[in-house]
Amino acid sequence: MDISLALKNPGQSYPFETTVEVEPMIVLDDPVRFDSVCLKGTYTGAGESVRIEASLEADVESRCALCLEPVKTHVEATVDVSFYKTPDPEDADAYPLDGYRIDIQPMVEEALVLELPMRFLCSEDCKGICHICGANRNIAPCTCQEGGERQNPFSALRELLTEDEEV
Ligand SMILES: [Zn+2]
Ligand SMILES: [Zn+2]
Repeated sequence: MDISLALKNPGQSYPFETTVEVEPMIVLDDPVRFDSVCLKGTYTGAGESVRIEASLEADVESRCALCLEPVKTHVEATVDVSFYKTPDPEDADAYPLDGYRIDIQPMVEEALVLELPMRFLCSEDCKGICHICGANRNIAPCTCQEGGERQNPFSALRELLTEDEEV
């Protein structure tokens, strides 16, 4: 991104709007794919640095942590970071300023990853994959766990009721 205006006119904020393409990545063992990231905000020069204040959003696709089916969600984040002509190597949040250009890609990726959900779920009550037969139990309920560990009080109750009927 060209920020030469901010270098010429320190203290002045310039609005900008752009899109960034982010490569698919692996986050905590899950493949995560972003569509174009929309970035909107201002950049302001301060002599030796340029500050970016922006909000960004993107649609994200990953897989359900329980059944492994694709899941889509929307992620929003805000950034407030500075790019320096001579970044402090000790400061991980100080990005480099290359002439009159900045590379906003690393900043965008870091902001997005921080906003990802702890785990993706296709729905709140996803039944997941059966560890015994491998079936996706949202599609085809299997009977592997009957009599085994009880998933919830209702399934235990249901078993009691069917037993009563048989008597
Ligand atoms: Zn699921
Ligand atoms: Zn099963």
